[in-house]
Amino acid sequence: MLLQQPCPCGSGATYDACCGRMHRGAVAAATAEELMRSRYAAYAVGDLDYVFRTWHPRTRPDDLAPDPGLTWTGLRVTDAGADWVEFVASFTRAGAPGELREHSRFERRAGRWMYVDGDVD
Ligand SMILES: [Zn+2]
Repeated sequence: MLLQQPCPCGSGATYDACCGRMHRGAVAAATAEELMRSRYAAYAVGDLDYVFRTWHPRTRPDDLAPDPGLTWTGLRVTDAGADWVEFVASFTRAGAPGELREHSRFERRAGRWMYVDGDVD
């Protein structure tokens, strides 16, 4: 991942100026939507440590394994509130395109936004 490439979250900014800042711990996500975008970008660049760190301890899995057959190809946030986000994430798996539609819920914990869980359509 080159820092000056467009951020995978689709913001139009460079990865370094967008979700890369959160992945390297320079800043924390200010809103649930920003956290959701940064978690998508973390999946896209393979930063599963960030995905784990931003997952609420109450609901997160014991460990996260990479899925080498899966490539994330785009994100569209379709709606968002203070503590929830609806989005469509595009991917290819073994060369075949697919989409994930999810309504995700977030909570602030010790001043930081964390992913709690989500309903997949
Ligand atoms: Zn981004």
